[in-house]
Amino acid sequence: MSGIVARQVSSYRLTSREVGGARSIVDCAGVRIGGQAVVLIAGPCTVEGLAMLEETGRAARAAGAVMLRGGAFKPRSSPYSFQGLGSQGLAYLARVRAQAGLPVVTEVMAPEQVELVMRYADMLQIGARNMQNYSLLREVGRTRRPVLLKRGMSASIDEWLEAAEYLLAQGNTQVVLCERGIRTFETATRFTLDLSAIPVLRQRTHLPVIVDPSHASGQRHLVGPLALAAVAVGADGIIVETHPQPTSALCDGAQSLDLDQLAGLRDAMARVAGAVGRTMHDPVSAESLPALLGPQISEGGGCQ
Ligand code: PEP
Ligand code: MN
Repeated sequence: MSGIVARQVSSYRLTSREVGGARSIVDCAGVRIGGQAVVLIAGPCTVEGLAMLEETGRAARAAGAVMLRGGAFKPRSSPYSFQGLGSQGLAYLARVRAQAGLPVVTEVMAPEQVELVMRYADMLQIGARNMQNYSLLREVGRTRRPVLLKRGMSASIDEWLEAAEYLLAQGNTQVVLCERGIRTFETATRFTLDLSAIPVLRQRTHLPVIVDPSHASGQRHLVGPLALAAVAVGADGIIVETHPQPTSALCDGAQSLDLDQLAGLRDAMARVAGAVGRTMHDPVSAESLPALLGPQISEGGGCQ
């Protein structure tokens, strides 16, 4: 048995293709990630207010995005940076989810937040800085909610798959991996997008893989080319930061697309997807979204 195969069997058994089969599909409120159709997920880095989120949700839906992203709890490198709107941000996400018919993915930073975030989110995001937060992985693993597990900025592919294994070992198999760039010696980009990770993961795991070209590059003009390269190399989807006025964004404006650029990206992705034998996932209808608990609890003022 080769070294690689031995490690797969012992340290990420359930995540490996040997046990899980060739491909899994993760169903997020009707959006199927990992099938033949490529998904586009869009939204601001951070939920800054209701009006900007509504505008982004409308434009994302019109552009053909199928899910809405946006941070309510933000893992900021500095404690002095804006930390997000918290539960009020979750309430805004729930409102735009229903208006635009876009299932929501948002970050959960701590085990004690899981119950709250689950009332609002169709998919729980575990951020790069928390990829090896094992108590968070166990808590999210105990739910049956789809998970977006971002790659730690200094994590090897094996460490990332071992982190996924924590989720699967608790019984949550609804896991999507997200390559978002790693730390290298290169300083021209914010991180280095590891495009090789996608075909490597395809060989090692049955889990779907999407790519975040926004955090990987840090620069708006690089987001489109990297997104297309990711689709070409086999990514199951793209998650991009999008803002109505990127230059005045509270967080990550330099890497955020404006709403017109998002529409252009969707069209270009469709052409590349076609060239590699895939299609783009269509949006689901607002009426088909399952009810979540959040808006009843916290429509106006949050519930923390
Ligand atoms: C994000 O997607 O909002 C984010 C903070 O990304 P990452 O965890 O990859 O840095
Ligand atoms: Mn961001």
